[in-house]
Amino acid sequence: MEAYEKIHRLYELIETKTVADLPGPYKVGVDLGTADVVLVVIDEAGNPVAGSMQWASVVKDGLVVDFRGAMVIVEALKAEVEARMGITLDKGATAIPPGTMGRNAMACGHVIAGAGLEPVCQVDEPVAAAMALGITHGIVVDIGGGTTGIAVLRKGELVFTADEPTGGTHVSLVLAGAYKISFEEAELLKRDLAQHRKIMPVILPVVEKMATVVKNMLVGQEEFDDYPVYVVGGTAYLQGFETEFGKAFGRQVHVPPHPLLVTPLGIAMFG
Ligand code: ATP
Repeated sequence: MEAYEKIHRLYELIETKTVADLPGPYKVGVDLGTADVVLVVIDEAGNPVAGSMQWASVVKDGLVVDFRGAMVIVEALKAEVEARMGITLDKGATAIPPGTMGRNAMACGHVIAGAGLEPVCQVDEPVAAAMALGITHGIVVDIGGGTTGIAVLRKGELVFTADEPTGGTHVSLVLAGAYKISFEEAELLKRDLAQHRKIMPVILPVVEKMATVVKNMLVGQEEFDDYPVYVVGGTAYLQGFETEFGKAFGRQVHVPPHPLLVTPLGIAMFG
């Protein structure tokens, strides 16, 4: 299965709450995000087997702020997928934004351990995304809810990472201010595809700012100027995002299908 086909398949499995009839052994990945928690099960070849997600606010700017809440959600997602698959999942991988250090870096592992999954690996989020996309040469930008991380790969080797606290949360804050609605209402407005054309002019400065943040991360790294750029993470769902981000960034960028699911799929590949 090609990378984009795997992403489409994972989306279908999550939406329909079904399981792919593929033999084990299986690998598990858990993405503890600012806006959502996603659990993905794949087979040895990286084909999606099952998945589940829940919107949540247990992480802020990439850091776990509600340990118990996060654990309860992972436990619930695990139990749901186990019931669907008829097996017990016992280990899994997690991810953190690049540059997360010390106890903060260990928190994700503790959360999944508390939920009954032995943590086997903790990977940088954009590195996981690159893995899911099968990229060995290029720049992966992961724009999530609270963080924007980048990973640069050269001939399969990770040569540069960076992370800044900006993401979809800032888009929602701007929408909440502009339309005088709550943050929660702004989140729902933003996730409604039918509203994207209307809201783009309002949020354009935020998208441009994100592009500038990423551009600044790459200052002094001119050797990467001709590397292909892929943008993943839920914020890249916004219609027109690819074009507007690319314009402000000064380079063409590629947004894969279901950009929110790319990193979670990649995390499972390290499980
Ligand atoms: P982080 O990696 O920063 O901790 P995360 O893992 O929760 O955060 P993602 O799941 O990649 O990040 O993306 C979440 C963001 O994507 C949220 O801000 C959410 O509102 C936004 N988002 C999700 N779906 C859509 C959509 N259809 N249109 C626009 N934005 C969306």
